[in-house]
Amino acid sequence: MQRLVILGGGESGVGTAILGQQKGYDVFVSDFGKIKDNYKEVLTHHGIDWEEETHTENKILNADIVMKSPGIPDKSPIVKKILEKKIPVISEIEFVAPFTKAKTIGITGSNGKTTTTMLTYHILNSAGLNVGLAGNIGKSFAWQVAQEQFDYYVLELSSFQLDGVFKYKPDIAILTNISPDHLDRYDYKYENYIASKFRITMNQTENDYLIYDADDEVISEWLKKNTTKAQLIPFSVNRKLEKGAFLNNNKMEVNINEEEFIMETEYIALEGKHNMKNAMAATSVAKLLQIRKETIRESLSNFQGVEHRLEKVLKIQNVQYINDSKATNVNAAFFALDSMNVPTVWIVGGVDKGNDYSELMALVHEKVKAIICLGVDNKKIIDAFGNVVDVMIEVDSMNDAVKMAQRIAERGDAVLLSPACASFDLFENYEDRGRQFKEAVRNL
Ligand code: ADP
Repeated sequence: MQRLVILGGGESGVGTAILGQQKGYDVFVSDFGKIKDNYKEVLTHHGIDWEEETHTENKILNADIVMKSPGIPDKSPIVKKILEKKIPVISEIEFVAPFTKAKTIGITGSNGKTTTTMLTYHILNSAGLNVGLAGNIGKSFAWQVAQEQFDYYVLELSSFQLDGVFKYKPDIAILTNISPDHLDRYDYKYENYIASKFRITMNQTENDYLIYDADDEVISEWLKKNTTKAQLIPFSVNRKLEKGAFLNNNKMEVNINEEEFIMETEYIALEGKHNMKNAMAATSVAKLLQIRKETIRESLSNFQGVEHRLEKVLKIQNVQYINDSKATNVNAAFFALDSMNVPTVWIVGGVDKGNDYSELMALVHEKVKAIICLGVDNKKIIDAFGNVVDVMIEVDSMNDAVKMAQRIAERGDAVLLSPACASFDLFENYEDRGRQFKEAVRNL
């Protein structure tokens, strides 16, 4: 019997334990932190051995294979010891993929993964395909493969998951864009992070597809210097392309396999240039799967969007409040500001990730009438934009931020929370930050 050790008793760990047991492995789950009660119950109910707040080495280093949850860095002492013993350390997706015949659509990138994943799922599901949604969202891929019988999976894949991939290949891959993020996990080397993202295509064959942002210089450079066997499907909002997806005045055009799909952008529910890119990527998948134009059109126009991503909260005294709490880096905030077409009060700040604000300068000049800094340390933001906007205020709670914003905003303006920073100085996570924003807006 092969011994499968799982590091991390969260959603992907517990799912993998259940699938592993079903496939005849001797399974052990070890978590250095606490395991949530509901997961403990599931493990115990299935008779799966587990431990928490410790790593018992003699129960781990005898593994044939280790599945590591994406949150655990390679540098952690237990992972180092496992690697020294030459035991393969893989990610959930790598473990699970051989157990399903379903076609997978794997979506990665620095920004736009969740939105593109949800939109792609929405179109496929509306077309009546038997499709599952997994990766970083909802029920784990492993659990679904153990319990369900889907023909397709739309998977959101982070770079950490891709680091543990060796053989897995998506039938269709999407690479939304690449900008610096999570560099602390990549020895502060951008090239390592870039290489990690491109693992999504390394095992693809001539029968597979790679859909990617042709406006992204990092991606274009990589494709010039490296090869992939996959068929390339580019998308662009800046120029017309012969093949792939692009904007033509106010229409989105998608040309795939000699077939054309055209839709006026005003009927696409998602707003902003970046979302046009996400829509192009999702539509390309739909075309490759030969989904009917009518279904694609309808799905693009009735997609509800995703919470905390340019989410319209309320209009109060003709001021639109927008929650983009998920903008945890500069690139995401760039696209949020870019999509604003009225004078904007911008709530920004949090834990800086080595941000370079210079690329936002022109947009802030053009669109932002006031900045509200919501962070413990706002120095970098003040230094960057102090001379660019007339009003600059520091606050240390979401309530104060929203109240200040209301005072400054005039009829027709917008208030945008798009922090460009991580949230854990003042909030538990970006969801908590977004929820507090919405709550404060509703209390105005
Ligand atoms: P991810 O799952 O990769 O973090 P999300 O869809 O959750 O991506 O969006 C994260 C943030 O990035 C949001 O603020 C969103 O408005 C912004 N965003 C969404 N799509 C894109 C894109 N294609 N390019 C840049 N920013 C984007």
